[in-house]
Amino acid sequence: MSGKVLIVDDSEMIRNFHSYIVKSLGLEIITAVDGADAMEKIYGSDDELLICITDINMPHMDGYTLIERLREDEAYEDIPIIIISTEDEMKDKQRGFEAGANLYLVKPTEPDELLLNIRMLLGK
Ligand SMILES: [Mg+2]
Repeated sequence: MSGKVLIVDDSEMIRNFHSYIVKSLGLEIITAVDGADAMEKIYGSDDELLICITDINMPHMDGYTLIERLREDEAYEDIPIIIISTEDEMKDKQRGFEAGANLYLVKPTEPDELLLNIRMLLGK
């Protein structure tokens, strides 16, 4: 597989953990510390994004808003988006799917489950 994966989380430990998991697929990683940083990274480069993995609770711009902004742009209306959040209530999941997420996983992240879901979403 080639292409870049955007990993967004305000926790450095989680960013490193998710990056470590995704790197095992041979994909390049871009990280961002919140939704606003993610928007800057996305629009500040020509890199093609394969998939976005984002937290929900973050300062400056949360994950719901990030996803809504991406879905408004036709360049990103179909990109697979995975939410990985500590929030595990149905209302959070519902809001995530309404924003446009393809999948909602709850922390702590299970590496094999994340890899399986990335492969599924990318059709690999
Ligand atoms: Mg967070």
